[in-house]
Amino acid sequence: MKYCDKLLGHVSRSFSAVIRQLPEDLAKEVLVFYLVLRGLDTIEDDMQAFVDNSEKVAQLQNFHEWALENPYWSMTGVGESHEADLLENFYKVSRTFQSLSPGSRAIIKDITKEMGHGMAEFVSKDLGEGTMTVEEYNRYCHFVAGLVGQGLSRLFSESGLESPQVAEELSLSDSMGKFLQKVNIIRDYLEDYTEGRAFWPQEIWKDFSPDKSLGSFSQEPQRDAAVHCLNALVADALTHVPDCITYLKMLKNKQIFKFCAIPQVMAISTLDKLFSNPDVFTGVVKIRKGLACKLILNAGSIEEVSLCFSSFTRNIMGRVDPCDPSAEKIIAACLKILQMTESTKPHKMRLLKTEPSVGYWPKAVAAAMTAYCLTYLV
Ligand code: MG
Repeated sequence: MKYCDKLLGHVSRSFSAVIRQLPEDLAKEVLVFYLVLRGLDTIEDDMQAFVDNSEKVAQLQNFHEWALENPYWSMTGVGESHEADLLENFYKVSRTFQSLSPGSRAIIKDITKEMGHGMAEFVSKDLGEGTMTVEEYNRYCHFVAGLVGQGLSRLFSESGLESPQVAEELSLSDSMGKFLQKVNIIRDYLEDYTEGRAFWPQEIWKDFSPDKSLGSFSQEPQRDAAVHCLNALVADALTHVPDCITYLKMLKNKQIFKFCAIPQVMAISTLDKLFSNPDVFTGVVKIRKGLACKLILNAGSIEEVSLCFSSFTRNIMGRVDPCDPSAEKIIAACLKILQMTESTKPHKMRLLKTEPSVGYWPKAVAAAMTAYCLTYLV
């Protein structure tokens, strides 16, 4: 357990903070769950260590048995730095896993098995130019993130701190994971493309770069087509937000709520920053640390989180370019979010001030349009 706790701090600063504030027993289970999946992901991400794909596929598909059920299991030469360390010392994670309750062990093992099989499905695929279809893109996001949401929900219900319903709403949990994953995939365009493992679906990006490669966007990031392509992906990601809000509304335990809400508010603020931003094609776009702190401090209740979602959604909506092919889709998705977040009574708190933005439409026009749409179209 000591090793698991130490390693968590090394492999993820952001998740370690949200995990550690959970009720003690649940924190232990979620910590083990996180490290198990991180181990699996290290195998998935290593593009050099395995001589052939069949060895990698076997490791992914059997990780839930070979690594989790063997108190001596260790793997060397896979991954780098702390992740390599995790696989080398994985038997310490396995032993901690064995100390958990049978119910939690079954959930963790089940999800690990399903994720390993899903990842294996993608090992032999050439992702140099992204995934093929939107369906395939969704399938990948389901395996690597939607399943995490489902496993966590089951652990919450299993602990008795949340109702059984939380574990049963599988599609809501799936959306929670998919939304976070899609925001990361949009943000990591350049890094993923450079590494030869991209996820932007061809079904979307080929409309904006018919004869070229996915990499062409990084050559001419200022072109309208590049930004419009980016926004088509933002429009798709936004469709998951209503599910995320419904899910958060279901939660009763304050610590579990924070654990779930913090990554979500970080994601919506990042999406706001990514929207219409050509810097995505040439570097890493990140939210400012001060804003991240503010978000964490304002993610304690559904009222605060709703305010946060509506604030970033308004920010996005105010910057929609009428010439953008996804304009209608984005506005529709935003209105749906506003309808869910602004129906609750105004809450007594500091208003969250987001970063100032320069819009295509003056703010007043955008506000008037929103009011009009909310009144007449919804
Ligand atoms: Mg991976």
